[in-house]
Amino acid sequence: MDRWGKLQTPLVVAVALLGGIIAPNVALAMALPGDEFVLTFPQLDPDTKFLSEYGVSKPDGRTHRGVDMFASRGSEVVAGADGFVQKVQQGSRAGLYIVLTHADGYESWYLHLGSFADGIEVGDPVAAGDVIGYVGSTGNAAGTSPHTHFEIHRNGRPIDPYPFLRASFERWVLSQQIEAGETPFR
Ligand SMILES: [Zn+2]
Repeated sequence: MDRWGKLQTPLVVAVALLGGIIAPNVALAMALPGDEFVLTFPQLDPDTKFLSEYGVSKPDGRTHRGVDMFASRGSEVVAGADGFVQKVQQGSRAGLYIVLTHADGYESWYLHLGSFADGIEVGDPVAAGDVIGYVGSTGNAAGTSPHTHFEIHRNGRPIDPYPFLRASFERWVLSQQIEAGETPFR
C-alpha cells in the first residue's frame, strides 16, 4: 500500500464521522483527489516512462506544466477519458497537439505528437481509450526522445497530472495481470 493508500482509510473514516454529525451526505460530497476524474492511462506502450515533474523550472525560465511520457515513436496515444475534441492544432513549441474536454471542467492535453489519428476533428466525441494520435517529438521536442507532454487542466488551469497518471497506470497494469490470470482474484 502506498503512502496515499495508508492515509486514505483514516481520512475517509474521519470525514465519514464528521459527515454524520454535520450532514449525512458530506462524506460522499467530499471527493478525494483523483476520485472525480478517473483517467485511462493515455498511452498504450507498456514501457512508457514518466516521472513526477509538474511545476519544475525549465532552462528557459518557464515552468513545466505537465508530465512527459516517454515511449516508442509511433505508439498509440489514447483519450484519457470520455469527452470531445476541442483542439487539433500545430504550435511552434507544442508541435502537433490535441486538447480534449471532459465532464466537471476537466481537460486533457497531448503535445509533441508525431501524427494525429486519421480523420480526428474538432467537435468529435471520444471515448476513453480511443486512439487520438501517435507518439513523436514535434515542436520544441524535436531532437529529444519521443514523448507525449501530458497535461490535465481543471476549470481552465493546469493541475498536477502525476497522481492521475500513476493511478491509471497502476489500474492498467493490474487489469493486464487479471486478464493474464496472474492474480489470486478475478
Ligand atoms: Zn513536457
